[in-house]
Amino acid sequence: MALRGNELDAWDRDHFFHPSTHMAAHARGETPNRIITGGEGVYITDRDGKRSLDAFAGLYCVNVGYGRREIADAIAAQAQKLAYYHAYVGHGSEPSIQLAKMIIDRAPAGMSRVFFGLSGSDANETNIKLVWYVNNVLGRPEKKKIISRWRGYHGSGLMTGSLTGLEVFHKAFDLPLTQVRHTEAPYYYGRQDRSQSEEQFSQACADKLEEMILAEGPETVAAFIGEPMLGTGGLVPPPSGYWEKIQAVLARYDVLLIADEVITGFGRLGSMFGSDHYGIKPDLITIAKGLTSAYAPLSGVIVSEKVWKILEKGSDALGAIGHGWTYSSHPLCTAAAVANLELVDSLGLVENARETGAYFRQSLADALAGQRIVGDVRGEGLAAAVEFSADKDDRVAFDPALKIGPRIYAATLARGVITRAMPQGDILGLAPPLCLTRDEADIVVKAVAGAVEAVSREL
Ligand code: PMP
Repeated sequence: MALRGNELDAWDRDHFFHPSTHMAAHARGETPNRIITGGEGVYITDRDGKRSLDAFAGLYCVNVGYGRREIADAIAAQAQKLAYYHAYVGHGSEPSIQLAKMIIDRAPAGMSRVFFGLSGSDANETNIKLVWYVNNVLGRPEKKKIISRWRGYHGSGLMTGSLTGLEVFHKAFDLPLTQVRHTEAPYYYGRQDRSQSEEQFSQACADKLEEMILAEGPETVAAFIGEPMLGTGGLVPPPSGYWEKIQAVLARYDVLLIADEVITGFGRLGSMFGSDHYGIKPDLITIAKGLTSAYAPLSGVIVSEKVWKILEKGSDALGAIGHGWTYSSHPLCTAAAVANLELVDSLGLVENARETGAYFRQSLADALAGQRIVGDVRGEGLAAAVEFSADKDDRVAFDPALKIGPRIYAATLARGVITRAMPQGDILGLAPPLCLTRDEADIVVKAVAGAVEAVSREL
């Protein structure tokens, strides 16, 4: 039964529980219920026929852009051949095995196995369980704490919501869980000591991490989790020297490193993986979003040979691993991922993220250079952020009641371009599909600059 017009609006307000939405406001009709009906390239179309350039690629995930026939065909062909079979007890399907090989071929050196899930959150749950399993196998059951960063985003499950370093994911849910600690975010723009160079600030972050490990007791700290470049916490590239200094601390105390590459994996920063981009040597890598460009839900944990060896040894003592999902390596999703990764290669999207990304970020910085409310323009590849400030020299934040971020988001949308008002502070996020052209980049920059100018005039 097709629903039309007002019926859809009413049913949406009455029955559809939206994630990350103010429930009462939505039910009262105070928030938009924009119903998206189509997508082509970097554009989406809503039910009213309004087209917008999606400069956030859904939720930084539709990396190849909308409407890719090759992926739709691959899903349809797999659905007709074999829509589903599980992967338990050694079973599998052709696209899942092919995909595992394709991922390892692209992954940083030293990685050897892939465990599949459906979301970034469940992949990070898997990561933590593997870390605990490893330390149980190694006979150190007390080494279980996980250190994450403030501003980090790792999901919204019980453990992953705990790892996420944003308060809205904690308060009201009795989180974080007891095994989780948060350390300083590598957020150079927000540093307390203005005199610090990037290297000095990175050293201070590494020193704080070391102090935390020593205070907790190194024998209790199992792993550190971080995104190569902070995503939801404000799209912040790491300050120079950060990962080198952090990894030196982790190595000293035998703490495993989980690189959460849900956003950065498969090209977003202009390298296949953020770990390669920043010289990170992780023990475990989380992947999702760009793996299928969101044509189907699929995530994974890439396991290093070092960790795999311990897991293998463990199974000789403990038997089959008590972990898995019904839909681990669902054939429709892995078939979508195979077609997607082939497109990433054939369209040269990693190179495009690097080259068009550099052009896009430079144009954005140039266009916003004279704006008094712009405190920072930053990014890497095709991920960028504009942070607003009441006093750009002193980096004074605006009164949150002014809702500067959401207003600039709305003004940009009114100019036909979708961005994202990031949840922490007045930050506008930009992460367009990796197939963005220079002409499309110009459209985005013009809309953002116009929106900033307009909101600035209102103040
Ligand atoms: N890790 C990172 C770095 C993410 O950006 C996200 C989602 N934005 C997640 C994990 C969680 O992924 P999901 O929403 O698919 O559970």
